[in-house]
Amino acid sequence: MNVANTSEPVVSNADDAASIVLDQAMWAAEQGTFPVGGCIIENATGRVVQAMHNNVLKPLADSDKTFTYDPTAHGERQLVYWYYANKDKLGLPGPSELTVVTSLDPCAMCTGTLLTAGFNVGVVAIDDFAGINFNDVPPALRGLAELKFGYYACGEKGQDPGTYVRKYVGGPDVVFRETAVSAQRLVGCSDIFQASLDKVRTTSSESGLPPSGLSDPAKLPDNSPVKTRFRSVYDGAFRSKTPKSRLPGAQLYELLTLVKDSAPEAKNAVALLDPFGNVILCLADRFDLSPVHTAFMNVTQSYAITRHGLMDDKDTRQSATEYLTHPKYGTFVFLYAPNPKDSTTIMTLGAYGSTMEGPVPQIFPANFQYYNPPLEGTVEEFRSVIMGLPPFYTQLAQISAMKVAFSIE
Ligand SMILES: [Zn+2]
Repeated sequence: MNVANTSEPVVSNADDAASIVLDQAMWAAEQGTFPVGGCIIENATGRVVQAMHNNVLKPLADSDKTFTYDPTAHGERQLVYWYYANKDKLGLPGPSELTVVTSLDPCAMCTGTLLTAGFNVGVVAIDDFAGINFNDVPPALRGLAELKFGYYACGEKGQDPGTYVRKYVGGPDVVFRETAVSAQRLVGCSDIFQASLDKVRTTSSESGLPPSGLSDPAKLPDNSPVKTRFRSVYDGAFRSKTPKSRLPGAQLYELLTLVKDSAPEAKNAVALLDPFGNVILCLADRFDLSPVHTAFMNVTQSYAITRHGLMDDKDTRQSATEYLTHPKYGTFVFLYAPNPKDSTTIMTLGAYGSTMEGPVPQIFPANFQYYNPPLEGTVEEFRSVIMGLPPFYTQLAQISAMKVAFSIE
């Protein structure tokens, strides 16, 4: 489905680039996931280095259903990870010499990923619910966002309806910034997303039994697929338990500290507890892989991909349904609250919002907890970063982070 790297088409204007990302969005719609697509273009040559579409939901084998594969698998985020995995092998130029063109204004997660890596970003259609639209980044990042992001001009006066005619707004190094996208492609990129958004979002947020319907995976034998698959990612999976999943206590603090200290260069570690208080995952930053492999990204991706793998196999689907659920019923516990001054923080918050895809259930609040204040900046500054995010995060996902309350036993 992705443009093969060997074919390397070359494009010469924004409308041709828009055509490539709109095709990707159509592949995504066909797959039943969020219809958004993107590509990396080399500024100097117009070479399309790679194209990808959203992969949040993927079909399950032997089923007509789709299921969350990776809540962070937006086109742009995947392109940045792809870049880091392939830049040495393929001898790719630095991110400042490349532009990620996307069919839709990037969300907070993708914006944090793109700004951390240093890509130029060319946007076709606007998303005023989850899109970052220049302004919804923390003040410290606004200058960088204005320099790196560009919103393509659209339409021609006298030829297209006035509502579609707009000028280019954005930075100086975005590829094809002097050319326009056609009204037809702009509307295509916008409409294909809006048409299936609600259906896809509902599929993604409703996948999983409420805790009252679940069985405790700690009781499974050690050779059960649920335990062995998670232990291949994190050896401590389902080996320790806190009595109450929303009161993590001192033992988890020690575990998070140990995990962070044993990962070179790591600044933070994050654990995911299930509704029974079992530690499913406890992972650190992996900055040896890239500057965007943060602890939270590693945890939410690993949980979803492992769970999807169990759901995708008809021999393990039943136990995956009985023992695992949507992470909104669990607890994400950070060793440190995310640093409000760091560009990865909007990536983390955005990825958290995408993981929830809806409000945290009111009877299971405090889904996002931290032990320590941020390594730099204050908790108040961190809160103001959250409150400054687009409406999706503040009104729908309603992100709120709480300090761990130590239980006295
Ligand atoms: Zn995104």
